[in-house]
Amino acid sequence: MKRTYIDKLREHVGEEVLISGWVDVRRDQGKLVFFDFRDMTGKVQGVVLPASPAMEIAKGIRDEFVVTVRGKINERPEKNKQADRLNGGVELEILEITILNGAEPMPFDIHSDTREVNEEVRLKYRYLDLRSERMQKNIRMRDKIISFFRDYMHRNNFVEIETPMLMKGTPEGSREYVVPSRLHAGKFYVLPQSPQQFKQLSMVASFERYFQIARCMRDEDQRGDRQPEFTQLDFEMSFVEREDILSYTEEMFIELVKKLYPEKKISETPFPRITYKESIEKYGSDKPDLRKDKNDANELAFAWIVDFPMFEKTKDGEIQAAHHPFCAINPEDKENFMSGEDIFSIRANSYDLVLNGYELSSGSIRIHQEAEQKRVFELLNISEEEQQKKFGHMLSAFKFGAPPHGGFAPGIDRIVMLLQGEPNIREVIAFPKTGEGKDLMMDAPAEISDKQLKEVGIKIIK
Ligand code: ASP
Repeated sequence: MKRTYIDKLREHVGEEVLISGWVDVRRDQGKLVFFDFRDMTGKVQGVVLPASPAMEIAKGIRDEFVVTVRGKINERPEKNKQADRLNGGVELEILEITILNGAEPMPFDIHSDTREVNEEVRLKYRYLDLRSERMQKNIRMRDKIISFFRDYMHRNNFVEIETPMLMKGTPEGSREYVVPSRLHAGKFYVLPQSPQQFKQLSMVASFERYFQIARCMRDEDQRGDRQPEFTQLDFEMSFVEREDILSYTEEMFIELVKKLYPEKKISETPFPRITYKESIEKYGSDKPDLRKDKNDANELAFAWIVDFPMFEKTKDGEIQAAHHPFCAINPEDKENFMSGEDIFSIRANSYDLVLNGYELSSGSIRIHQEAEQKRVFELLNISEEEQQKKFGHMLSAFKFGAPPHGGFAPGIDRIVMLLQGEPNIREVIAFPKTGEGKDLMMDAPAEISDKQLKEVGIKIIK
């Protein structure tokens, strides 16, 4: 007999069916044994009647056993119907149960809102935590959001391009994870902190509209709600000005909310546009929370923050790019850019999207001319030799007909977190790491064998 998914059982009243899934709960009432069974489509109540040949086996089954059940779908008596529930009108009369696998008692109650459970335990048994209803919803909604973005991009003629995970160390601002090369002992790849350079090079390659659901890796000290790896909706467009990217993004977010979260309302459209300077002066922050009612779980206050400074001072008094060194300069500040005067007043042609006090994304119009790019490197005190060594490929690409371009990279984890009303991004990532960057389920990072170390030519200094 073919398996029927639980959400289709209603269509089989009076018929015999076969279902597979987990025992969500078992309630033994002596003469009768009740079950809730669960598969990826939902739940159904089953009952083993006193004379059923399945009675003996039913007595030995515990929660979370994996089973296949043969039974008959009966309409429930009118008074027992629960109209608001999937299968609230029917019940499975169990004729036969086959145990496919047993299960030890769960280390915590997966029927609860597991946010109350110790997080280390949840992370160690993430595959069980993910069985809980809330986590299933979060991960499934994440998939819907990503599918929406992918579809939206394709409808607008973007092409998804996979860019390398192994690349050359060319710091854009964050510390990179390094990967030793076995074939070239003593040499290293790094993991991308974002596909920034590849997406710009895709513009030089004349694709005009690129996107990628991109994994980014950053080896930062873990502060706040950060993950060493996270996901961005990374995109780039050619022949655009700032306004084009802002309006494209804005329309996309409005449609996302309308389609997937119709109960939510956006406080203001078009999204307010605030300069960095105004935002700091007025709100003391470059990610102001503009909600009218902070207790309203359905309010979404988007805002654009524009005109960020191009350069900033590090703690050691050195100069660095505030976003990354590929941002174009605000045309009004070209004079100081050329003269190098009052350098911290120079603005980038950049923008952030903020939602309810969180930064969702940064982006900018980029430099597409060699001379301007070299001038930025010069102001960053990167010598000619270093420029060639680290960014020679970018400078070279700009010599071969690079179009004007710009882009953006909304952070998927934060978007899902805010839309799902979760307090941190770990709740919307299937297998996240702890605040200290550890995977408690796999126990990573971990030591590797001497043989592996030798192969990649690495000695550990204790
Ligand atoms: N690559 C940038 C980032 O990860 C985003 C962008 O400028 O498009 O922040």
